[in-house]
Amino acid sequence: MIPAPFDYVRPGELEDALKILSEREGDAKILSGGYSLLPLMKLRLAQPALLVDLRDITGLDAIVETDDDLRIGAKATHRRIHENETIARYPLLHDVSGGIGDPQVRNWGTIGGSVAHADPASDWPAALLAANARIVCRGQNGERIVEARDFFLDTFTTAIEPTEILTEIRFWRRPRGQGGAYTKLERRVGDFATAGVAAIIRLGDGGSIGFAGIGVTGVSDSPFAATDAEAALAGQRPSDDVFRAAGEAAAGMSRPVSDIRGPVDYKRAMVAELTVRSLRKAVERALAYS
Ligand SMILES: Cc1cc2nc3c(=O)[nH]c(=O)nc-3n(C[C@H](O)[C@H](O)[C@H](O)COP(=O)(O)OP(=O)(O)OC[C@H]3O[C@@H](n4cnc5c(N)ncnc54)[C@H](O)[C@@H]3O)c2cc1C
Repeated sequence: MIPAPFDYVRPGELEDALKILSEREGDAKILSGGYSLLPLMKLRLAQPALLVDLRDITGLDAIVETDDDLRIGAKATHRRIHENETIARYPLLHDVSGGIGDPQVRNWGTIGGSVAHADPASDWPAALLAANARIVCRGQNGERIVEARDFFLDTFTTAIEPTEILTEIRFWRRPRGQGGAYTKLERRVGDFATAGVAAIIRLGDGGSIGFAGIGVTGVSDSPFAATDAEAALAGQRPSDDVFRAAGEAAAGMSRPVSDIRGPVDYKRAMVAELTVRSLRKAVERALAYS
């Protein structure tokens, strides 16, 4: 299908883009990689009157480690993140960025677009939730920082305002003794997740679990933090029995629907299994970085 008619602008400055969004509130949409928005426009499921392309705005794709954070600019593509030297020390983010779609999608799609779009089966939100990441939303009056756990509100619905631009994702800098992993089940290579589980484990003194973060995608109206699984892990010594208990807890919080990817019970069983696999890998990686 052909999209409905729309206007197109390519401002060179972030401030100009924000001004346009304010003036055209409700009727303009940001264009980043276009790999989610343009298909929707072609199906006429989205019909913005104006596209505000971020392409010419510089400084929105940096990947920087500070004393406290790892900051990833909204325009960083999945591929750029995957190939970045710093990200090689963040195995969860490395796993996620390498498993999205196919090479073409990874060349164009951006982390900011993915997070703002909030597809219930998208991969980045699971990682952001597991990692307790923070999302920087910039408006004409300044910047606000939203916790990932307050950001994903519902299917394709987030806490960002239509007059704001997502500029950056902030992850906590990886401490020694912490590891992460993302495991995804897809029908065919390149598909969205039937289910996906992101895990972060930080080992405390004596080898018990000091922090556990679990984010789940594909099996609910919106990606979610599996807080029951996190509670089952906290303070425990890592073992397959503990991981299985966490997997059951994550499956219990899932609300999958039956579709061509499988029935409800199958999807819940997959969440349990993917949780165990992600946890095993996260602990291995935590031990290797102690
Ligand atoms: C064939 C195919 C396979 C795919 N497979 C996967 C997959 O396996 N896993 C996965 O997670 N994703 C997958 N995707 C989605 C892909 O990762 C998209 O690139 C991503 O979801 C959106 O990023 P984008 O930069 O293309 O955003 P766009 O399509 O440009 O924008 C998406 C939405 O976010 C808004 N937006 C974009 N940037 C900003 C910003 N900075 N601030 C505020 N709002 C913004 C736009 O207005 C729009 O509403 C797939 C897509 C395709 C076409």
